[in-house]
Amino acid sequence: MLLDHEIAEERSVEHLDRKVLAPGGVFIRVTHVCKTVPMEVWRLETTAGHAMECAGKHLVVVAKDIDPVPVDQLRRGDLIVTDQGFHQVSVVENTGEVRALYDLRVDSEDHLYITDGIVSHNSTGLGAAELFKFNIFPNYRSIYLTPLKEHSKTIADTMLNLQRGSLYPPEYYTSRGYRNNMYYKESPKGGSIKLLHILTDPTKIRGNSVPSVVIDEAQDFDPEHLPEIEQVQKSFRKNRTIIFAGTSKDLDTCLEAQYRLGSMGVWHIPCGCKDKFHPLDDPETIPAMMSVDGLRCPNDHSRLLNPMGGSFVHANRAKLNLNMPSFHLPQVIVPQYARGAEFSDIWKDFKRYDFKKFLTEVWGIAVDSGLTELTETDVKKCCTDKTFSQTQADYLNGKVRYVKLFSGVDWGGSDWEPAYRSKLSYTVHTIWGMRNDGTLDLVYAHRYSGMNYRDISGTIVAAHNKYKTFAMGTDNGGGQYYNAYMRDCGRIPTNLIVHFQYTDTKLVLDRIPHPEAHIMSLHRSDSISALIADIKDQKVSWPRWDDSAPFVLDCLNIRRNITETNSGRTILRYIKHGAKADDFMMSMNYAAMMKRVVNRESLIPNSQVLDELAALFGLQAISQNTSSGLDMLDGGYVSG
Ligand SMILES: [Zn+2]
Repeated sequence: MLLDHEIAEERSVEHLDRKVLAPGGVFIRVTHVCKTVPMEVWRLETTAGHAMECAGKHLVVVAKDIDPVPVDQLRRGDLIVTDQGFHQVSVVENTGEVRALYDLRVDSEDHLYITDGIVSHNSTGLGAAELFKFNIFPNYRSIYLTPLKEHSKTIADTMLNLQRGSLYPPEYYTSRGYRNNMYYKESPKGGSIKLLHILTDPTKIRGNSVPSVVIDEAQDFDPEHLPEIEQVQKSFRKNRTIIFAGTSKDLDTCLEAQYRLGSMGVWHIPCGCKDKFHPLDDPETIPAMMSVDGLRCPNDHSRLLNPMGGSFVHANRAKLNLNMPSFHLPQVIVPQYARGAEFSDIWKDFKRYDFKKFLTEVWGIAVDSGLTELTETDVKKCCTDKTFSQTQADYLNGKVRYVKLFSGVDWGGSDWEPAYRSKLSYTVHTIWGMRNDGTLDLVYAHRYSGMNYRDISGTIVAAHNKYKTFAMGTDNGGGQYYNAYMRDCGRIPTNLIVHFQYTDTKLVLDRIPHPEAHIMSLHRSDSISALIADIKDQKVSWPRWDDSAPFVLDCLNIRRNITETNSGRTILRYIKHGAKADDFMMSMNYAAMMKRVVNRESLIPNSQVLDELAALFGLQAISQNTSSGLDMLDGGYVSG
C-alpha cells in the first residue's frame, strides 16, 4: 500500500468500470489509478514465466505467511501466489532504476484504499489556495484547522504533493533555511502555514497569532470553540479572514450556520423560459433539471442549460458589502463536470445515491435537521409546579432541605472583551440542590450578557454564597480570567472549585496537573450522555415551564454528531448546534459532575480520583460503602 506522500497523482477511473482479478478468482472494480512519486523499481519473475516491475514495498501473497510480504523482502525460491496457483520466485532484484510507478486502488472490503473523492477535491482546492497565498503575499500567515486528525493528515499530504509538483518544491524552502514540515511551513516572504486539528480541546490553538484561519470539514467542527479561535486573530483587526469549508450533512452544523450568517450566494443559470433564471438551490426543481448530458430547463426539458453562463446571486447583499460572502457550491458549476460526457459522473450519482445524499454531496444542500437527543417533552417532564422564587424561598426558609448544593458555571468566553462578544455564547450560572436520593433540583439560574467580567464574577460568587452552595464546577476552556477571579476572590474556598476541561480521553474524569488550580479532564460525550439519561429518567427537576423554559430549552440545542474518520472509524460526539446556545446544559453538566464525585457514582470508575477529590473537598469520612446520601448530612441541608 502506498503512503499518501508517495502518491504523485491520483485519477478516478470509476466511470470506466474497469476490473482486476483479485486472489480467490473474483474480479473487483478499480476505482483509482495512482501515479507514485519516483521510487526504486524492483523486478519479480517466477519459474512459470510471470514477470512484473513494481515498488519494493508492493505486497504479494506468499505460501509460508498469512500476511502479505513486500517484494523487497522476498528470496529466490519463495513460493508466491499467482493467478495459476503457487509458483517459485526465480528473480527478485532491485533494478537500480528510479521512476514513477502506477498503483491501482480497488473497490474491496479494505477501505484503506478508498478515498472520499469529494473531500479530496474540496481540500485540494483549499490547500492549493493557501499555498498560493503563502508563496505570493508577503507575511501571509494562516492556520488550517480541521476537526479530525485524519483530515489534518490528508491536507498535509495534499499540500506536500502540491508543493512537489509546483515551482516551489519542498527543497526550495529547506535549502534556504525555512522549515517545510508536514504540519508547519515557512515561506521566504515571511509567511507561514500551520495545520492543526481541534475536536474537543481548543486550548492548543492558544498562543498562536495569525490573520487567516481556514476551518475545513467545518460541518464536524464544534462552534463552541469559535471564540477561542477568534482570539488568535485578535491583533489583526483590519485584514483578518476566516474561511469555513466542507459539506453540511444537516441544517444545524457550524458550516450551515456560517452560510446563513453570510451573504448566502446561490448560483443562477440564465434561461430563455418564463423564469429567466434557474437557481441551483431548490430541491423541488433539481430532479426536473437532471438529464444524462447536462442540466435542462425544468419547464421545458428540450432546453439544455449552460451552467458556465450563470452567476452568484446573493440573498443578503448587505453581508456581501460587509465582506462576509458565503456560497453553496454545487458540483455542476465546476467546469470539468458542467456539461456533456463529464456530466455523466453527476448523472451516475443521481441514479446511485438516495436523493438526500445526492443533494448533500453533489449540490451542497443540506435538508434535514441534525439528530437531537432530547425532545421538548423530555425537558417538560422534569418541571415541578413551583416557580423559581417559590423553589428558592422553600429552600431558604428550610421547608426543603438538600444534602448539598452545587454551582455550575459555563463561561461565555468573550464577555470580558466586548469586541469578541458573540451571540452564540453567554455565561450561565446554575445552582442545584442534591436530594438524598441523588437527584438534582434546579434552584437558581442566571444568564449573563453585556456585563464586564468583574461584575459577572462578583454576582456569581454572591449567589453561590447566598444559597450556601457547597462546591463549584466551572468550564476551564473559555474562562481563564473568570476562573482566576473565582480562586483569588477569597470568598470561595479554593479546594471547592474545580475547573473542567473537555477532552476525548477514555476516562470520564481525570486530573490535569496544575500548580494553582484543580483542573479535571472530562470526557465530553460520556458525561453528556449521562446527563441526557438523567433528564430522560427525570433524575433532575426544574421550576415550572414558563419560568425555566428560557434556560432548559437550550438542552435541545445539543446535537448528536456522527462522523467517520478516514480510516472508517465512527466517532459519536455531542456538539452544539451551529447557531444556538447550549451554555445552560454545560453549566448543568459541571454541577452534575461535582455531585457525581461527592456521590461516588459508578459512572466514574477510577476510585483514586474520587478519593483525591473527596479529600480535597474535606469528605474523607465518607467510605465507599456509603450508599445513602443521608449519611452525608452536612449543616442540615437535607430534603424534608
Ligand atoms: Zn427555463
